[in-house]
Amino acid sequence: MPTVRRITELQDEMTAWRRDIHAHPELGFEEKRSSDVVAAKLAEFGVEVHRGIGKTGVVGVLRAGTSKRNIGLRADMDALPIQEANSFAHRSRHDGKMHACGHDGHTAMLLGAAKYLAETRNFDGTVHFIFQPAEEGIGGARAMIEDGLFRRFPCDVIFGMHNRPGMPLGKFAVRSGPMMAGGAFFDIDIEGRGTHGARPEAGVDPVLVAAHVTAALQSIVSRNVRPVDTAVVSVTQIHGGDAYNVIPQRARLSGTVRAFSNQVMELIGRNMTRVAEGVAAGFGAQAKTDFRPIFAPLVNDPKEADFAAGVCAEITGADSVRRDPALIMASEDFSFMLNEVRGCYINIGNGDGEGACEVHNPSYDFNDQALPYGASFFARVVETRLAR
Ligand SMILES: [Zn+2]
Ligand SMILES: [Zn+2]
Repeated sequence: MPTVRRITELQDEMTAWRRDIHAHPELGFEEKRSSDVVAAKLAEFGVEVHRGIGKTGVVGVLRAGTSKRNIGLRADMDALPIQEANSFAHRSRHDGKMHACGHDGHTAMLLGAAKYLAETRNFDGTVHFIFQPAEEGIGGARAMIEDGLFRRFPCDVIFGMHNRPGMPLGKFAVRSGPMMAGGAFFDIDIEGRGTHGARPEAGVDPVLVAAHVTAALQSIVSRNVRPVDTAVVSVTQIHGGDAYNVIPQRARLSGTVRAFSNQVMELIGRNMTRVAEGVAAGFGAQAKTDFRPIFAPLVNDPKEADFAAGVCAEITGADSVRRDPALIMASEDFSFMLNEVRGCYINIGNGDGEGACEVHNPSYDFNDQALPYGASFFARVVETRLAR
């Protein structure tokens, strides 16, 4: 287990930080205490601190030598609206909120790397430690970018990571190109003409139209998307009517779309609008589609994926690095940063076997044994890329 030796020595300290953050979870854009903790630690390490980027976002700046090269390392700080089921000492102190995705661990690993790099300064260039708020679907990465993240803190390249339950400790997964799906939400409002349930000929039934639109939408992936592209269209809600004997005036369909490129996402949005309008018109109704991309697809730069895999291999051996993990249909908003700056996002093992609880589960806990691996990855990325 040749993690960086000095970082292995920080195990107890990183564990204490991680458990403190775990005990005090905060939802997206409410990371007041978490960002206070991060800012105070960075300052204590001698890292220059900038706050309020994307509301509660924090950026630490560490320079060494004279090189103009820049690198960005990113962790997320937000928790989820889940009631924690664990009973250990560091369980959530806040009802209905919990670090169920391991962002407490991601933050502790990046802090560990910052402490080590500030101590050793064995690199030539500038490191930007990016602690982002609100990763869980409410736009923290975009908020930081819109606040001038990369204008104020230029990065030639950026790296991020997520823990993966079920993958053994000390293992890494790195994929070149698309890795995680982009996600969109949609609402389709169907306007018919309400009437008595026994007199359908006097109205236009939006419930029947909604059923036909739902079925027709399933032709998009099978008939409009290229068979070699991966995508999902799921209608997850149908709302309409509230009486047995009334054909309502309107109905609403809602759902989600996943795809691995912006082009496919746009194609699905266009076709969805056309199918909904066309089917509704065929029945004498009207459909209005609101299609909202929420996450961009996460696409790793092939060269940076090779680089990241090399750094992982150096830490735990080439056998510990999977280069062909399956595509992940879930989304991650680091994708918006990768749209601005090339880089790579990796997965790090959170342990397998008994107790390997999935993220977003009320019994999940980040595995503290993973901390030195992730912190070593961040540290070695800097020392390798910004070598003196
Ligand atoms: Zn999550
Ligand atoms: Zn997460």
